Amino acid sequence: MKIPAAVRPLYLLWQVWHHPLLNLLLPMYCKICHGRLLTDENLYFCGECWESSPRIERPFCTFCGKPHQALSGLGERSNFPCADCRKKPNSFVRRIWGAAQYSEAVARGIRLFKFYGKEPMAEPLAALMLAFAEKEMDAEGYDCIVPVPLYPSRERERGYNQSRLLAEHLLHFFARCTLDESLCRIRPTRAQSTLKSVDRAENVRGAFAVKGDALKGKRVLLIDDVITTGGTVTECARALRRAGVQEVDAFAPALAFASLRLDR
Ligand SMILES: [Zn+2]
Ligand SMILES: [Zn+2]
Repeated sequence: MKIPAAVRPLYLLWQVWHHPLLNLLLPMYCKICHGRLLTDENLYFCGECWESSPRIERPFCTFCGKPHQALSGLGERSNFPCADCRKKPNSFVRRIWGAAQYSEAVARGIRLFKFYGKEPMAEPLAALMLAFAEKEMDAEGYDCIVPVPLYPSRERERGYNQSRLLAEHLLHFFARCTLDESLCRIRPTRAQSTLKSVDRAENVRGAFAVKGDALKGKRVLLIDDVITTGGTVTECARALRRAGVQEVDAFAPALAFASLRLDR
């Protein structure tokens, strides 16, 4: 939007002051600690709550991304596979990356983003992923970024695909990648969060397909909003590999561990 020169100083003043002014009239509070919000940096959370939500730090599993709890936070330690992944490697997803644990402010933020139409949450969640990617990932390691698709009627209802919004932001770091939407959901599925982990694999079985052959031979980074059992990303990766994709890794702002078992 082009701002006329005459009103530009007023516009700049508005940019700087509209949040504090709005906050004065309609106070906003952190959804975790209920403290007054003074900036709109993390939208619904104060800086302290947002920052203290646990990030995933080294050492973590080289396959499922799960931190080796007792050892985490030791900085430069090398990552290594966990016992579960050594026993039963996932044959479709090469590795899963997650920036934070699905708890506290980050979990609340993802739910607001996904179920309550809070589209601007894309920015702080993507910032979380970018900070992780800069530390741990290779910007040249992929050819395409592919969001986990929604069924068209679900996307119309929500107004956006949250994974696609995250994927768009990630192009700042994975600058050589293209955003590819050849992966589609060919039948409606129930929200995985409403199901027990044993039913999740069945819910998404055969739900994805790839249009055309643009992804043939490509290295794909698949983007989801949260990875819990790994059922959805595994099923997406199965369809991608069947379409000739060379390798698939998955990346989400958060991983939920209580029931993290990869569907093989
Ligand atoms: Zn707070
Ligand atoms: Zn693992």
